[in-house]
Amino acid sequence: MVLRISADGSNAKTELKTWTQDLTHTQTSDDSCPNCSQESTRGTIGGIMPQAAITNADAGVTVFAFDEATCSDQVHTDTSDQITQCADPALFSLMTSVSQDSISSQVDHISIAQFVPALQREDGSYIGTSEQNNQLTALSQEGAILWQANIVDSMNNPKPIVPLYAMADGGIMATTTATFVTNQDPLDPVNQDVTTRVINTKLGTLYKLDRGGNIILQLPDEGSLVSWTGRWYLDPPESISQVSVPEIIDFARTLAAFSHGNPSGTNVAGRPWYFKLVWQNEFSLIPDNPLILTELKTDISFRATAIKQAAISAFIKAFSTLPVIADEGSPDTGDHRVNIVKGEHIEPPTGLPVCGLTGSFPPVSNSSVYYEQNMEQAQWAINVQISGPKDLKKALNRSDLFTAIGAGIGNNGAHEMAHQFLLNLSGMDDNSTNTYNGQGCNGSNSPWIYNGTDIHWGNMTFQALKKVLGSGWHR
Ligand SMILES: [Zn+2]
Repeated sequence: MVLRISADGSNAKTELKTWTQDLTHTQTSDDSCPNCSQESTRGTIGGIMPQAAITNADAGVTVFAFDEATCSDQVHTDTSDQITQCADPALFSLMTSVSQDSISSQVDHISIAQFVPALQREDGSYIGTSEQNNQLTALSQEGAILWQANIVDSMNNPKPIVPLYAMADGGIMATTTATFVTNQDPLDPVNQDVTTRVINTKLGTLYKLDRGGNIILQLPDEGSLVSWTGRWYLDPPESISQVSVPEIIDFARTLAAFSHGNPSGTNVAGRPWYFKLVWQNEFSLIPDNPLILTELKTDISFRATAIKQAAISAFIKAFSTLPVIADEGSPDTGDHRVNIVKGEHIEPPTGLPVCGLTGSFPPVSNSSVYYEQNMEQAQWAINVQISGPKDLKKALNRSDLFTAIGAGIGNNGAHEMAHQFLLNLSGMDDNSTNTYNGQGCNGSNSPWIYNGTDIHWGNMTFQALKKVLGSGWHR
């Protein structure tokens, strides 16, 4: 039985299945055998494992139960007790999806025992453990076992394993780090009378498995967990730390991509927003200050890494106090994207090129940032003047120029991203200075976009962003 309780206290019960087990008891006692009896058991019993319910995208829950087919005969006498199994007890899993208080699909007799789900991948399949946490298992929505993986110790014995994260590429992260809860007196561990709940963690190994369940990476688990903003922290102490696990950042976009529901592990299904910067431009330098010199256009691909790094760190910083994991992506990844495109775009009302553009009819999930305009305005913001080949050669050695181009792209990207949610409202394009939301990306008038000034969201804009983004991703 699945019990649904809503926030207002209303509730409903959904019956998953009924099982029948017949038990026949015959008293065969007589004077020679006062306690003799026979018993036969036929049928199936079922039950639900702890933590066996998991969100099914945003369409309800999937609940895993087990059912055990039994068939046995027993003969009791005063001196003996003989049990005959007429069939091997068979343990199966029952997978039921419940939506709107009724069963939307059900698969019985999945040939694994005690499946406990932990994650849902983007194709709808579930990752969990079976048989006392020792076997990682991937189960399709049709109940097919996609793969099972044992993590073994040096003696080849399966080690308990905990699924942690579902990744965008269909792979998963899991750990052998184990948590033990004991009750003891912290001052006198042998004394069991006065006890305190003590949680001990034994650090193990982090494993990355690919879509097919093959181990592709292992590294020591330092116990760090990812936060709602994509940063890593150690717990305890519950503080943002310098630890990072660079091999993992591209989480699946499902509502059950994190074990125990979300990065806080509160068993509530939820996830951060995923914002991506998508590079689709060419990396060139065209002198613009004091005059545009297109004939000196130079390929600066060798500076692409520096530009990208400055852009991504500015973009991440803009959303660092909101539940947003911002990073580089490819087309159509993440929830919302800023695509850095080549060429210029002239807006008809002004006849002037713009740094970025976002559609004004929701829903919008893509913006454009125009590389050329950002590259040109960066030269004005930090006053790099190029009047000929000699100046150009000097400029190519100025790392601050490439940092400024990148910062402009990241900050203008954050500005366009805010337009996706707020359109032209809530302080967007106002006359503020040192903000992400202020209008204008002219390098001379708004140098803070490029030159490394510590900029922020205006209060009205930030409150509006907090309202729409603050509780995590939703449609
Ligand atoms: Zn704008």
